[in-house]
Amino acid sequence: MDAEKRLYNDFSSFLKSRYGEKVRRLTVNAGFGCPNREGGRSGCIYCLDGSASPVSDSSKTVEEQIREQIIIHLKKKHAKKFIAYFQAYTNTYAPPGKLESIFSQVSKFSEVVAVAIGTRPDCIDEQKLTAIRDSLADKDVWIEYGLQSVRQKTLRFIRRGHGSKIFEKAALLTKQMGFEVGAHVILGFPWETRNDIYQLARFLKKCRVDHLKIHLLHVLKGTPLEILYRKKSIALPTLKTYAQMAADLIECLPRSLVIQRLTGEGTKETHVAPLWAMNKTKVIEAINSELRKRRSYQGKFA
Ligand code: SF4
Repeated sequence: MDAEKRLYNDFSSFLKSRYGEKVRRLTVNAGFGCPNREGGRSGCIYCLDGSASPVSDSSKTVEEQIREQIIIHLKKKHAKKFIAYFQAYTNTYAPPGKLESIFSQVSKFSEVVAVAIGTRPDCIDEQKLTAIRDSLADKDVWIEYGLQSVRQKTLRFIRRGHGSKIFEKAALLTKQMGFEVGAHVILGFPWETRNDIYQLARFLKKCRVDHLKIHLLHVLKGTPLEILYRKKSIALPTLKTYAQMAADLIECLPRSLVIQRLTGEGTKETHVAPLWAMNKTKVIEAINSELRKRRSYQGKFA
């Protein structure tokens, strides 16, 4: 579809235009922990196993995990270029030397064109960013930070363990050091208003965020959020409300920002609620039709 006619700057179009062909994601689990789950801290209330993908196996080296997945994709002719995604837990929770030994394993693979590193904004500094830059000098690297919300009330409720100021500091330092910056946000908290969403969009712009993953507030089995949900201490949005919230955010985002994700859900085994979230196509279609109904698109009010 013509770039002008696209409702938003979606990830697959971005990858095609930057790399000239299809790019597949490889999920890597380097065995990091998370500071928010240690020393008496019980973690974010929605967290299940640090979002570790069931297909990545931390008992194998990073090199082994990448090689095995590339072989499978090449055999199935899925793609010839890849993004290594360090998703599980906090992927900068180690001294710079250890980060260098982990990330330098990726540089052996010419097929890997980009590396995405998911982490917490309170777990980064100049030394760590230097180690990452030195070990991945020939790759595009984006560092993805969990922000989740700009409202203090929400951050306290989800037990995030940091405020939005820390995110801002980390994002700006990361940009200054030549990386692209990603952010994860959650929409659907019942007390968050349209104004909160507008404020979130302004904040992302101020922090010079390049990539965004929008998650729906959803409940996974075995999490503290499940207990609250079963006690009816928190209500979840309907599909219609969520589509409106996502559209509110999208139309205020700069057109250049890449939207990597539009919703969130668990697996058949782990997902509790809302049930409509399991039909991802329907969720994305609801967001698209909300934008079409408003004759709107990403950047309309940026
Ligand atoms: S920062 Fe990530 S890994 Fe750590 S508790 Fe929160 S969601 Fe889980």
